[in-house]
Amino acid sequence: MADHRILLLGPPGAGKGTQAKRLTAEYDLDHITTGDALRQNKDMETEYGTPGEYMDAGELVPDPVVNEIVVAALEEADGFVLDGYPRNLDQAEFLSEETDLDHVVFLDVPEQELVDRLTGRRVCDDCGANYHVEFDRPEEEGVCDECGGELIQREDDTEDTVRERLRVYRENTEPVVEHYRDEGVLVEVSGEGTPDEVFGRLRDVVEN
Ligand code: ADP
Ligand code: ADP
Ligand code: ZN
Repeated sequence: MADHRILLLGPPGAGKGTQAKRLTAEYDLDHITTGDALRQNKDMETEYGTPGEYMDAGELVPDPVVNEIVVAALEEADGFVLDGYPRNLDQAEFLSEETDLDHVVFLDVPEQELVDRLTGRRVCDDCGANYHVEFDRPEEEGVCDECGGELIQREDDTEDTVRERLRVYRENTEPVVEHYRDEGVLVEVSGEGTPDEVFGRLRDVVEN
C-alpha cells in the first residue's frame, strides 16, 4: 500500500493533534507537528528571539524557523500527517516546493466550541498526548493513560491567548484554507461529535 501524505488543516482546537495521533497509528505514518517541535525548542536562541516569546503571546513564530523544522521532518518521512503547518500563504508556497500531498483535509468546528476545547485542554508533559477536562478525560485525573506522565495546561491555552490565536488564525491561516479550496483539493470534514466519529470521517477520506 502506498504511503499517505496527509495535511490536516483547521483552527486551533479543531482536533488536529487528536486525529493526527489516530491516523499515524492506523496507517503507520509519521506525525509532523510544528507546534510540538517548537514546544520542545521553546528557549532556543534564533536571530528572531526564542520560539517561546511568540508562542506565549499567541503569535506565529517566524517562517524561517518553522520552515527549517518542516524540511528536516519531511526528509525523514515517507508517509506523514502534517499538522499545524502551513499557517500562512508563504509557508504554503514553501511546502508546495518541498513535497506533494495526497489529501488536504479541513476539520471544521464552530468558534465557541473551539474556545471550550482549548481552555479545557490538558496535555501530557512527557508524550504530548491530548486530553480534555470534560470531553476526553484520562482514567486517572492528571495522569496520562499512555505513559503515566503528568498532565499540564499549556501556557497558551488561557482565554486571552486563545482569542489572539483565533484572530491570528483568521488573518493568516484562513487564506491558506481558501488557497487549497481554490485549487480544488480541499476536503472538508465536520470536526464535531466524538473523536471516534470524526476519525471515522477521516478514514473515509483517506481510503477513498
Ligand atoms: P494548536 O494545536 O492549538 O493549533 P500548535 O501546537 O499547532 O497549536 O501551535 C502552538 C503555537 O506554536 C502557535 O500559536 C504558534 O505560536 C507556534 N506555531 C506552530 N506552528 C507554527 C507555524 N507553522 N508557523 C508559525 N508558528 C507556529
Ligand atoms: P488542535 O491540535 O487542532 O489544536 P487538539 O487535538 O489538541 O486540537 O484538541 C483540542 C482539545 O479538544 C483537546 O483538549 C482535545 O482533547 C479536545 N478534543 C479533540 N477532539 C474533540 C472532539 N471531537 N470533541 C470534543 N473535544 C475534542
Ligand atoms: Zn503521556
